[in-house]
Amino acid sequence: MTRPKGDTMPSQTTTADIPTVEPVRVDQLDTLAPAFKAPYDAWIAEAQRQIQHVEFRTIETRRTLQRQSWLYAQGRAEPYLDTPQITWTLDSRHRWGLAADWIMVRRDNRGNPTAEVIWSIQSYKWVYRTVPPGPYGLRHIGPAEWMHVELLLADEALEHASQMDLKQT
Ligand SMILES: [Zn+2]
Repeated sequence: MTRPKGDTMPSQTTTADIPTVEPVRVDQLDTLAPAFKAPYDAWIAEAQRQIQHVEFRTIETRRTLQRQSWLYAQGRAEPYLDTPQITWTLDSRHRWGLAADWIMVRRDNRGNPTAEVIWSIQSYKWVYRTVPPGPYGLRHIGPAEWMHVELLLADEALEHASQMDLKQT
């Protein structure tokens, strides 16, 4: 990437930029790129239609560099060295609106959500087997992260970022 002369903005986040407070987690679906939102909405709707004993919830959609830097600092930089690492990249698909994280909340026998979030890996694997993301143009990235779904052709989409009006935040 070329930068205009005189541009003194750092091109990469350094440790000095790590926020000391967790930047807000965004879960609004309308922050997603349409190219990802449309298939993601369809996939989640189909999963909810077929699997009714849980409620599907999207817990994170678009991220800013600031939040990604905070996540990346976990387990890597002061003052977060004692916490586990939770991401491996600063260049997440979330920053392009091309990924979302979802969870399942168990429903009671009247269909109302309980406080019980399902974290079992087997349950996520089962959902992906029951409603495969592939035909929707999506993929999960298990075992790295089971809650994360992103555009299957994200690399190709990013090659056409301006045509698709993709914006990195
Ligand atoms: Zn994710």
